[in-house]
Amino acid sequence: MTKEMIADRSTAFAESEGSTLDDTDAALAERLFSEIARRSADTLGVSRPAWSAKETEILDFLTEEARAEGLVVTADALDNRIFCLPEDAEATPYTLIGSHVDSVPVGGNYDGLAGVIAGLCCLIHQRRAGRRFARPVRVIAMRGEESAWFGPCYMASKALTGTMTDEELEATHKGDGRSLADHMRDLGIDIAPIEDGTELLPLSEIGEYLELHIEQGPLLVRERKPAAVVTGIRGNLRLKEVRAIGEPGHSGAVPREFRHDPVMATAQLLTRLDSLWAEEVKKGTDLVMTSGVMSTDPKHHAMARIPDQLTFSFEIRSQDPDTLERFEAILHDEISRISALTGVRFELPRPIRNAPAQLDRVVQSGLLASMEAIGQARYSMPSGGGHDAAIFANSGVPAGMVFVRSQGGSHNPDESMAVDDLMAATSILLNYVTRDATT
Ligand SMILES: [Zn+2]
Repeated sequence: MTKEMIADRSTAFAESEGSTLDDTDAALAERLFSEIARRSADTLGVSRPAWSAKETEILDFLTEEARAEGLVVTADALDNRIFCLPEDAEATPYTLIGSHVDSVPVGGNYDGLAGVIAGLCCLIHQRRAGRRFARPVRVIAMRGEESAWFGPCYMASKALTGTMTDEELEATHKGDGRSLADHMRDLGIDIAPIEDGTELLPLSEIGEYLELHIEQGPLLVRERKPAAVVTGIRGNLRLKEVRAIGEPGHSGAVPREFRHDPVMATAQLLTRLDSLWAEEVKKGTDLVMTSGVMSTDPKHHAMARIPDQLTFSFEIRSQDPDTLERFEAILHDEISRISALTGVRFELPRPIRNAPAQLDRVVQSGLLASMEAIGQARYSMPSGGGHDAAIFANSGVPAGMVFVRSQGGSHNPDESMAVDDLMAATSILLNYVTRDATT
């Protein structure tokens, strides 16, 4: 082995070693999680509504904590917060690490927040150690990502990348019926540039976007792994409220052949779609479907009455845009067939569409190399859930994601995550942004 080779190897080692997290970082993460859970507690879980004063309170809390550690904190046009080391405050291009602080109603504490806290841990760890990153890093804590409040998802990243539609701005809040635009105005946000499709965050300055998120599914638990690198994000087609309209009647007096029962027609529709879905899965198609909200009119329904109407939500997700398109056509065909059969009419709302996203291959291989460098076996998987990273990726920013093992599902109070797992996943990010990009 020549001297040069030895020198090369030692540089490679020094670079690939990067920084590692320790118990102090884990304690910091635990404290932030429990303080934020306390501030956003509801009856069973946590509720941090999208575009609310509660969200602002959490962002203010994170701002205070970060400033106390000597980080620079700024607010963007949506009053998201951006954190960085003082020496990186003006530097471009930068690596953006981010996720969201809102939650679904009565949700868990980790969906979104884990990614924000992971980013902050990287910054605070480097700040305390007096070290810099291999390239400038900023961390963004975003507002409204969850679709549960208004219907549209990824709202902050859509507005930041100038891709939010007027229809999304007019989407109404599930609680008070006021529009997303009005809720944004309440927070002092100027809607005009969002309507104009202005990039609120200059994308040319962002070298890459990284997001850590809880898996929200069972795979990492089954594989006994704390973390994974994500390959791509499923897109979706959503119908917020489908209306099945039939004919009311007495449950005892109307014989079967005279009935136009919207509940039975919807049951037929969903059963048919379910069996078509099963066939697709057998063929290896990436597809999931869900009808998460369903109700007859509470003012009029009764056990002894054929309801005149049923409303339900319908959502399909896939990594393949063609599958989404094909299944939308199948849905329409089946609706026509079952309408003809039952005399029940289905009124469909304008669909909400979110395209699937491919995560950047170079970023992926860098994250996998970091996994290996810190002693974890390389492991990657696709994301079933949607994430802000999809919007950055589809806006041309190279994007990468790291998943953390989570238990108890997600979007519910049983959602849980071990802080050790978060540290294992955050270490991948930290290694990635502290190693020389060329190694
Ligand atoms: Zn999330």
